[in-house]
Amino acid sequence: MNKALRKAVIAGNWKMNNTRPETKALIESLKGKVANAGCDVVLCVPFTNLETAINAAKGSNIKIGAQNVHFAKSGAFTGEISADMLVEMGAEYVVVGHSERRQYFGETDETVNKRSIAAIEAGLTAIICVGEMLEDRENGITDELVAMQTKIALKGIEKDKLQKVIIAYEPVWAIGTGKTATAEQANEVCSVIRKTVAKLYDEAAADALTIQYGGSMNATNAAELLAQEDVDGGLIGGASLKADDFAVIVDAATKG
Ligand code: PEP
Repeated sequence: MNKALRKAVIAGNWKMNNTRPETKALIESLKGKVANAGCDVVLCVPFTNLETAINAAKGSNIKIGAQNVHFAKSGAFTGEISADMLVEMGAEYVVVGHSERRQYFGETDETVNKRSIAAIEAGLTAIICVGEMLEDRENGITDELVAMQTKIALKGIEKDKLQKVIIAYEPVWAIGTGKTATAEQANEVCSVIRKTVAKLYDEAAADALTIQYGGSMNATNAAELLAQEDVDGGLIGGASLKADDFAVIVDAATKG
């Protein structure tokens, strides 16, 4: 199987942006621009905007996701949201282990694994984020670190559940900084992830897995990044807040 046979997915990560009226307006404006996408189009929005986003996206090819999920079914976890709650609301995707969660909210490889399992078991597609800090890259341990994050994130996830997994390679130094990994750097690490998955499962499973790049992807650099053999899509922060820019990235993935 080659890149052309894998599912390309462009997912917007809105982070903590947009009120409900802004959510409705942005999705209304985006719908027509991505209607002919040759890739899957996903928007991961704040919890408070899920219902508005799902309603606004109805009848379009835009799928809606959340940006975090708790690993317990229910219980005394004040401020958290379960996978069943997301599914009941109509969310189809969830971002797990974003570097901002790892940096600011104590997320670890182990909790990323637990959240991923909970999400997949509930029927969500988990967009699992991995990636190195600048210091890791400078120390020459990017490949080992990303392979380790991938291995721990996938622990206990059966091969037949991998269709509900997307891995997003997001170098932390490139997120929200305007510094993008070069297309070669992005492809190299995405290929390390694919080889890690091949070792954990088999070649067919690795060949079928969607692996995104994320980190300051924008309307200008998307085409080159998305043309790489092992880059099957993008997780987009800043540029997903502008309908025109996001639509250009979707278009690049369609061609890529
Ligand atoms: C992200 O939030 O996952 C991200 C990649 O952000 P940005 O595109 O703004 O770097």
